[in-house]
Amino acid sequence: MVLNGVGVGRSVAVGPTLRMPEPLSEPVDEVATEPQQEAFARVQAALTAVSEDLSARGEKAGGQAQDVLNAQALMAADPTIVEDIEARLGDGKTGERAVFEAYAGFRDLLVQMGGYMAERATDLDDVSRRVIAQLRGVPAPGIPESDAPFILVAHDLAPADTALLDLGKVMGLITREGGPTSHTAILARSKSIPAIVGVEGAENLADGTLVVLDAAAGTVDTSPSEADVLDARQRIAERAALAAAPLTPGALADGTPVPLLANLGSADGAAEALAAGAEGVGLFRTEFLFLDASAAPTVEEQYVEYERMLRAFVGKKVVVRVLDAGADKPLSFLNDAPEENPALGLRGIRALRASEQILIDQLTALARAEEAVNGAGVLGAGRHGGGGAGERVDLWVMAPMVADADDSEYFTTVARELGIQVAGVMAEVPSSALVADQIFETADFVSIGTNDLTQYTLAADRLLGSVANLQDPWHPAVLRLVGMLGRAGRDAGKPVGVCGEAAADPLLAVVLVGLGVTSLSMTPAAIADVRAELARHTTVEAEALARAALKATSASRARTAVSRLAAANAVG
Ligand code: PEP
Ligand code: MG
Repeated sequence: MVLNGVGVGRSVAVGPTLRMPEPLSEPVDEVATEPQQEAFARVQAALTAVSEDLSARGEKAGGQAQDVLNAQALMAADPTIVEDIEARLGDGKTGERAVFEAYAGFRDLLVQMGGYMAERATDLDDVSRRVIAQLRGVPAPGIPESDAPFILVAHDLAPADTALLDLGKVMGLITREGGPTSHTAILARSKSIPAIVGVEGAENLADGTLVVLDAAAGTVDTSPSEADVLDARQRIAERAALAAAPLTPGALADGTPVPLLANLGSADGAAEALAAGAEGVGLFRTEFLFLDASAAPTVEEQYVEYERMLRAFVGKKVVVRVLDAGADKPLSFLNDAPEENPALGLRGIRALRASEQILIDQLTALARAEEAVNGAGVLGAGRHGGGGAGERVDLWVMAPMVADADDSEYFTTVARELGIQVAGVMAEVPSSALVADQIFETADFVSIGTNDLTQYTLAADRLLGSVANLQDPWHPAVLRLVGMLGRAGRDAGKPVGVCGEAAADPLLAVVLVGLGVTSLSMTPAAIADVRAELARHTTVEAEALARAALKATSASRARTAVSRLAAANAVG
């Protein structure tokens, strides 16, 4: 049988499935029927089992992971917690409830202490859940443990789960929920794990089923023949060879350059991006630096971060996005008023216009960082990124969620007044495409955020699995808007990039170029695949693929039509 979903990337995986256990329900606060002594003995046995299991896993993992797991093993055996549990059993609580309440009490204490101690609160939660699972006789929650590599099947993955993914073990991901911009998809792309999200029927996959997961086709074959398995293994080997190919600049088969840039949230990812052949940074998500901040960061705090990023990319271009607060990325110091529809609320440039000093501080910090890296008083080099930046970094700054020419004029004026030389906007709200010619009167460049552009064009919340089928940037409605932006950019003689997840889908990347997009920015792990696919098509072919996509009547038909045509090109 073949299950269908939305594939992430182009890779293939073959292996047995393993299901992620369902989250545990909170133990009910009911009167205990079990005698207190028996309940305490059961709880003690569960605590010992969990403590021993955590130590054993620590020993196997070694390194930093061993320290974390040993600390958790100690928490499970902590005498103060054991005493607390015993006292609660004395008050007539059930074993599960006493464990739940005792750990919750200590957790709250840690949170009140703040700092490092507060960060341990989630470790305590994890121990509590493990003990309760042990008492119930069900598998421990979280990523399942296995000695052999497996393909993980889950309802969906939370960011906390994904941080624990052992890449040596998890060969692929299949989730019931999620769309192409869900956390699972973004993680899979950044770690190069083949994934299919939004798979109906995933919940019925029995553990140990041998499957072939084909991300390019968006399929999970649950009963592959021997030949299918062999074919998949050969494709895996071909991809491994591709990843080892030389790091040439992005270009179409006819030599038309298409710079391949990296999406980064801090300078920590710079080395990895450069190693993948990134030709610069196409989206620096500055809000990621300050997600936990309760007060607006100072100019000095920001300067340090920006200077670090700019230095890492000397000789290249760095496109910085000013703080994009709101909806899926709330920043308490920028917009903490409750809103009925935060995705349609005071977010992006709207929030910055309402708190102008925050925007001024950020632009000031950016201009100072550029000055520090490039040397004071040198103006104009590298404008519009034609290369030849030498030892200078080419700083471009853009505003998120720009709706129209007024937003564009406002942002670019403030940015230039504060010393930013190249100021542009993100096209994420459909209105920006409809008035793209007006926007180009003030913006030096446009970068298309296809994640939000898709969400708003199809009116489908990008965080909601139930509308995942609509969150597809292959939709011809989204592509028509991209085409309008591409044409307006060409008419104005200004660059139009894409920095949404669409740029990381190799075949869609070719379509975007065919629609007039001049650079692509993505998670560094996707660069090799996109580079290889671009090199298979000329400009004329890319434009033909774009026309086929625009003519299709749905996202899936666009994908199919373009895949067929691209395969024919490759043969011909
Ligand atoms: C986008 O919306 O496509 C984008 C690049 O911004 P973000 O995903 O950070 O909202
Ligand atoms: Mg966005």
